[in-house]
Amino acid sequence: MITANARAVFSSDGPFKPTTIERRDLDAHDVLIEIKYAGICHSDIHTARAEWGQVQYPLVPGHEIAGIVTQIGSQVTKYAVGDRVGVGCMVDSCGECVSCQKGEEQYCLNGMTGTYGEIDKYGQYTQGGYSTHIVVTEDFVVRIPDNIPLDKAAPLLCAGITTYSPLRHWGAAPGKKVAVVGMGGLGHMAVKLAHAMGAQVTVLSQTLKKKEDGMRLGADEYYATANPETFTKLASSFDLIINTVSAKIDMDSYLSLLAVDGTLVNVGAPPEALPIQIFSLIPSRRSFAGSMIGGIRETQEMLDFCAEYDVLPEIEVISANQIDEAWERVLASDVRYRFVIDISTMGNE
Ligand code: NAP
Ligand code: ZN
Repeated sequence: MITANARAVFSSDGPFKPTTIERRDLDAHDVLIEIKYAGICHSDIHTARAEWGQVQYPLVPGHEIAGIVTQIGSQVTKYAVGDRVGVGCMVDSCGECVSCQKGEEQYCLNGMTGTYGEIDKYGQYTQGGYSTHIVVTEDFVVRIPDNIPLDKAAPLLCAGITTYSPLRHWGAAPGKKVAVVGMGGLGHMAVKLAHAMGAQVTVLSQTLKKKEDGMRLGADEYYATANPETFTKLASSFDLIINTVSAKIDMDSYLSLLAVDGTLVNVGAPPEALPIQIFSLIPSRRSFAGSMIGGIRETQEMLDFCAEYDVLPEIEVISANQIDEAWERVLASDVRYRFVIDISTMGNE
């Protein structure tokens, strides 16, 4: 067993406390990663606060992991000691179902294993990246290109791939009008990625407070959703809308912004239902869709794309003692635009 320092919550309302967790000894195909940086995703908060259902405590969140390989199992072929690597939201899947065969492990029909809060094939409860080390099978590890610094790589492992995948799937490209709802961790990556793919990008944020940033990151237009005129002005105009909002919002208003044959993809995952009027879809043959992260192959493709087009997140690096404070700022939509924990500050004092 390998003992790692970590920060965990011990209840749904708990503050973070220093703790230690055990990582398994390396299997033949495992790599041991010394974690350097871990991003803070709003999903960490939904999960730890039991908004999506009960979880077991103590829970160590974190599924935006960037670090260095420090040990490899006897049959590892893809990675060597010293490699710069990342781990996202999944650490395993069945490998046999149609989804896994297609490289879409996130849709594994037998249920992929989440990086934290789930029981893995060893019968152990998985614990995430707010920790100093993790052991992961090599097939669920991706390579971080040399020109991406590790702190900026971390958010790409969830915020990056979760927005890249639907933008690719629904064809964001020159000539396409894409709107991004919510300019937080996922939203700001969606803006940068859609812009890099050549689409015309509009941000729909609650207010205009972050407009200057949005335009700098690649938006062509920026509107406040608190202003009702936004919805009349932009009616029937977008080919694709990526909704990254972590809370319940009125979907019919946003569906009315889609052009004929347009699609609104929800990546935001509020615990509440999002009811819609079917007549928001029927008269313009619109679609309302969902999308979850991306497969391992696509995650590697996204990292290589970000390296080539210099698409990197805007981050605020924090120490391990600042996680509670950072979570409160995420909840207040006061994140610019992803908090990343410097794991070297995780001495368990
Ligand atoms: P985040 O950084 O907190 O960003 C969410 C943004 O939504 C905020 O910055 C804010 O943008 C907007 N927002 C928040 N509350 C709102 C409200 N009441 N009304 C209107 N807008 C509101 O969160 P994140 O890490 O990007 O994650 C966003 C969501 O995606 C979460 O629900 C998360 O669980 C989910 N997620 C899903 C996947 C997936 O695979 N589908 C993967 C990762 C995360 P403005 O300030 O610009 O209005
Ligand atoms: Zn996430």
